[in-house]
Amino acid sequence: MKAPALEFHRPDTVEAAVAILAEGDGAARILAGGQSLVPMLNLRVAFAETLVDIGAIRELAAIEDAGDHIRLGARVSHARIEDGEADGHCSGMLRHVARNIAYRAVRNRGTLGGSLAHADPAADWPVAMIALGVDVEISGSNGNRKLPVEEFMVDVFTTALQEDEILTGICIPKACPDLRWSFHKMRKKAGAFGEAIAAAVHDPESGFCRVVAGSSAIGGPQRLNLLETALQEGPADDDAIRDALTRTIGPLDRYEMQIHTVCLRRAIEEVRT
Ligand SMILES: Cc1cc2nc3c(=O)[nH]c(=O)nc-3n(C[C@H](O)[C@H](O)[C@H](O)COP(=O)(O)OP(=O)(O)OC[C@H]3O[C@@H](n4cnc5c(N)ncnc54)[C@H](O)[C@@H]3O)c2cc1C
Repeated sequence: MKAPALEFHRPDTVEAAVAILAEGDGAARILAGGQSLVPMLNLRVAFAETLVDIGAIRELAAIEDAGDHIRLGARVSHARIEDGEADGHCSGMLRHVARNIAYRAVRNRGTLGGSLAHADPAADWPVAMIALGVDVEISGSNGNRKLPVEEFMVDVFTTALQEDEILTGICIPKACPDLRWSFHKMRKKAGAFGEAIAAAVHDPESGFCRVVAGSSAIGGPQRLNLLETALQEGPADDDAIRDALTRTIGPLDRYEMQIHTVCLRRAIEEVRT
């Protein structure tokens, strides 16, 4: 099956892209790597009259050192992160997450911004970005705004983006060189989406500490504040993890509870040792 006929634009500035989105009145969509959007258009589970390809907007591909944070343009690909272009700031965490997304052909085209904007509940970057406490930058007809990524990720396949807005950048706070992190993804085979994902991050210098779980079964990324004290102060046994999952997300069936518990335990243990 192929997508219906579409109007196609390839602007070279963010302002021009925003103007096309605004004119589209809800029927125009950004095309980044196309790894999620194109199959969905072909299968007719996503709809658009106009596609706005951001592949020619150079500023969206930049990786910059911005003082207290590193700024990644929204169309930086998973492959560039895997190849270490953004390394040196999160002790290898970004590279680890990128290299475990799908397979290289998908990583060559798929983008960090596309993954966040798509908000697939099984995706890896939303979990990792919430664990790292990043902010996202957004441009639209009413100007620019910046918000914490956990406010950006509103629900399953739903973000805080308005119809005329583009996600332009991701600002990752610089951590100390001794940052402790762990990212676990349980999947049935290499290249597949995770059935359970867990990330834990602890910066011993600033005290910053986060534990995040993710998967379709739990409705996307969930920050587990109840486990963040355990990460710094004491062991997190399986009962404590199950309790935190139930109190944060609600009841899970035995299989889902078990794989999320194991993933979280491994992530917490790895950060604590
Ligand atoms: C076979 C396969 C396996 C995969 N496995 C995994 C996996 O294991 N883990 C994982 O996390 N992901 C996986 N993915 C998804 C992959 O990471 C995609 O790259 C990602 O979900 C979407 O990024 P994209 O750049 O291709 O976005 P697109 O497909 O171009 O866009 C996705 C959506 O986001 C919107 N959008 C994109 N960029 C912006 C922007 N800058 N501003 C506003 N809106 C924007 C688009 O309008 C569209 O609605 C897989 C994909 C495939 C095809």
